[in-house]
Amino acid sequence: MYEGAIQDLIDELGRLPGVGPKSAQRIAFHVLSADPADVNRLATALRKVKDLVRFCTTCFNVAESEQCRVCRDPRRSNEVLCVVEEPKDVVAIERTGEFRGRYHVLGGAINPLEGIGPDNLRIRELLVRLGTGEVRELILATDPNTEGEATATYLALLVKPMGIAVTRLASGLPVGGDLEYADEITLGRAFEGRRAV
Ligand SMILES: [Zn+2]
Repeated sequence: MYEGAIQDLIDELGRLPGVGPKSAQRIAFHVLSADPADVNRLATALRKVKDLVRFCTTCFNVAESEQCRVCRDPRRSNEVLCVVEEPKDVVAIERTGEFRGRYHVLGGAINPLEGIGPDNLRIRELLVRLGTGEVRELILATDPNTEGEATATYLALLVKPMGIAVTRLASGLPVGGDLEYADEITLGRAFEGRRAV
């Protein structure tokens, strides 16, 4: 195709999720003709995200210090804990403005086909948090697809014997979809209408 640096850039961009070969080429040539200051800002942002961003030691959301913004907020309730798959789901739920509790980010969902079992998720860490006895309700906000449902069922069986109320987001969310793609109103309603499992 092309030689040297431009091809390297196209190859690297092409490895990103959602970027096909044509888009990779388009972005690479855009970068080539862009203002150097703009390209520097992009390069700095890429480096900074790897240097500065880490995972919250409590909930595993993305954070720039030991704990994420949600865990550091003293006004939030410790009695309600919402389990999600990924940090982007925290953002989606925060956008609804419906939730004032804490989160726990699993880092994915149970998916036997891809070799992801309970041990590959942060379930042990979740049980440790629940062991403090502060949490009264656990909201299972995993994605409304096969893997998310399997994960929710697994967690419900594990947690209910601990005497903690376990709820699941109400239906109305697009089945088979990703939580992050639900609009704020639908997700907000699903939150309000959550049901015991
Ligand atoms: Zn946190």
